[in-house]
Amino acid sequence: DTAAQDGHEVYFYQNGEDEAHLERLEIIDELKQALQLDDGQLFMAYQPKLNMNSGQVDKVEALIRWKRNNGDWVSPELFIDLAEQSGLIVELTKWVVRVVITQVGVWLREGLTMKAAINVSAQDIADSAFLPHLEDMLAIHGVPANLITIELTERDMIENEERGINALKALKALGVMISLDDYGVGQTSLGRLKMLPIDELKLDKVFILKLNESHQDQCIVQSTISLGHQLGFSVVSEGVENSESLTLLKQMRCDYAQGYHLSRPLPAKEFINWLGSYHEVV
Ligand code: C2E
Ligand code: MG
Ligand code: MG
Ligand code: MG
Repeated sequence: DTAAQDGHEVYFYQNGEDEAHLERLEIIDELKQALQLDDGQLFMAYQPKLNMNSGQVDKVEALIRWKRNNGDWVSPELFIDLAEQSGLIVELTKWVVRVVITQVGVWLREGLTMKAAINVSAQDIADSAFLPHLEDMLAIHGVPANLITIELTERDMIENEERGINALKALKALGVMISLDDYGVGQTSLGRLKMLPIDELKLDKVFILKLNESHQDQCIVQSTISLGHQLGFSVVSEGVENSESLTLLKQMRCDYAQGYHLSRPLPAKEFINWLGSYHEVV
């Protein structure tokens, strides 16, 4: 057969593992191309974050989407992981930062002040070009730093700790907010939590998805909100899928809520349409 005539294919297709390896290499390669072409395969989706104190949506989380030219969607869970393993994440995050800050600047000039959260990885924080790029984008697009939040998971925050914490402090000095994403499923001890230069705790969705049904989740969430507030953090819940959970979070004095109950992540234009027809739900 043809595979047998081609040394490379025989090499790569020896077994399922090699095939998966090749597939990963192809995805990384295509992702690299998609970043360079910037032809719309990659775009940002924006998910509303409801300010529970004001009842208004004054913030979004920016989440990357990839629809390959062949029509396939690739999940960010998969390609972000591959981008991290291959080092491409630094370039990808540069693109994300540019696109999101451009969008926030466009909204500002249209009269809409909308804060935005950007997800980054440990490698971005360790990259000495990250902060200057962010600073450049803010200046070019006339966006005040306090409209931008950087979201990092516990794992990303703990990697190369000393350097990481200093880099986060430099970001904070710039005026951007720092959020600890997926809180509660990682390894952050309470001792470490108080040392981290963060502004926001973002409870992982595992505690929120069934909040309305689970007494245990209610205990965990209530305690974490209290702890977060006493440490001076704003607390956000992600994965709010029903109105009962939203009401509970309001009673528990959670600061922000995000989830499918409000809206799925949407492309910018659709988000603006959604916002136009939004009526206060809490
Ligand atoms: P994350 O930062 O924790 O983002 C929250 C994820 O939960 C998103 O998945 C979002 O679509 C999903 N979600 C929001 N509301 C609900 C809900 O009510 N129910 C459920 N079941 N899920 C909900 P998504 O967009 O697939 O992203 C997955 C992860 O990929 C993100 O987790 C983040 O770690 C990473 N990611 C996404 N975009 C970017 C990016 O631009 N840069 C980087 N570095 N990572 C990104
Ligand atoms: Mg996030
Ligand atoms: Mg999260
Ligand atoms: Mg996550």
